[in-house]
Amino acid sequence: MDINDLVRENIKNLRPYSTARDEFKGQASVFLDANENSYGSPLPANYNRYPDPLQLDLKDAISKIKGVPIENTFLGNGSDEAIDLLFRAFCNPGKDNVIVLPPTYGMYEVSANINDVEIRKVSLLPNFQLDMEKIAETIDKNTKLIFICSPNNPTGNSINREDIETILANFNGIVVVDEAYINYARQKTFIQELTEYGNLVILQTFSKAWGLAALRLGMAFSSTKVIDVLNKIKPPYNINQATQDLAFEALKNIAQVNDWIKESVAERDRLSKALTALNIVKKVYPSDANFILTEVTDALTIYDTLVDQGIIVRDRSKVTLCEGCLRITVGTKEENDKLLTVLENF
Ligand SMILES: *Cc1c(COP(=O)(O)O)cnc(C)c1O
Repeated sequence: MDINDLVRENIKNLRPYSTARDEFKGQASVFLDANENSYGSPLPANYNRYPDPLQLDLKDAISKIKGVPIENTFLGNGSDEAIDLLFRAFCNPGKDNVIVLPPTYGMYEVSANINDVEIRKVSLLPNFQLDMEKIAETIDKNTKLIFICSPNNPTGNSINREDIETILANFNGIVVVDEAYINYARQKTFIQELTEYGNLVILQTFSKAWGLAALRLGMAFSSTKVIDVLNKIKPPYNINQATQDLAFEALKNIAQVNDWIKESVAERDRLSKALTALNIVKKVYPSDANFILTEVTDALTIYDTLVDQGIIVRDRSKVTLCEGCLRITVGTKEENDKLLTVLENF
C-alpha cells in the first residue's frame, strides 16, 4: 500500500504556506522579516517572536523519552487537532467514509461531521472487544480511516493486540490507535510497530498522565509519509511558544509523572475493589486507564446525589453497551475517599 494513494488530490497538489522562518533559516541578529514587534512583550518573558513551526527542540526531548525519531512525530493543539487533520488529509467530503467502534471517544464522530465525512459505526462486542467480522464487512474502497481507542474511553479496557495487528496488516487505509491512556495500561504501546506498518498512526497526549490538559498538546506518531502530510496542512504555528517551553520543562520531571502513574494505578485498583463491595454497584468493569466504568442500580439519582456533594462524575448511562453506567475518574486518595463515603451512605 502506498500512503500517497490515500491522500486527497487537493492536498497532494497543495502548496503549503511559506513562513518567514521557512524562507530564512540561518543565524542573524536583526529580524525584520515577519512584522513582529521588535521591542518585546508587555510581560516578564518575551513572546514577541513567532514560534518554531516544527517544534524541533520539543520533539527532540520527546524523542528521547518515546524512542520515536523526530521525523515520525507530529505535535498538535491537543490530539483533537491531529484527528481533524487526518480527516482533512485523507477523506474526501461526501465521498469517503471512516469506521468508529462505539462506545468510544466522541471526537472522532464530531470531527467526521465537521468534515462532512460519512461515519460507519461497528459496535464493540459485549466484552468491549472488536467485532472483527463486522468490521471486515463494513470496510469498502472508500473507507480511509479506522479509529481504535486502546485503552478505550469510556469502557477502560485495552483492545486485543492481535485484532489491531490483523487490521493493520489487512486494511488498505489508515489505522489510528488512540493511546491517550497508555501510561496506565498493562498492554504495551504500539510504538514498536511503527516501523512495520506505514498505515499506523498512534495518538498520545500530554492531557492525561502528564497533567498538562490546559496546555493543549497532543502527539501523533506515524510513518514519515503520514507525518509529512500532517505537517504540510497544519496551521503554520499550531503549537504556541508558551506550550513548547512549558512542555519542554515538564519532560525533565518524568520521575514525578511516573510516581503519579503508579499512585493512580494503585488508587484505581483500591477504588475498583471498594466500589465492588457497595450495594448500589452492580458491576465494576476492569480498567487499564485512569477511570472506572461502573454499572449502578440507579445512575441518575446517584449522579445527582454526587453533584449535591460537589462531586462530578460522567453519566454514561444512556450510551449503548454502557446502560446504567457512570464513568468515574480516579482522583487523589482524599478525593476517592470522599467519593466512597458519599456512595456508602447512599
Ligand atoms: C482525553 C482523550 C484524548 C486527549 O485529547 P487532547 O485533545 O489531547 O486533550 C484523546 N483521546 C481520548 C480517547 C481521550 O479520552
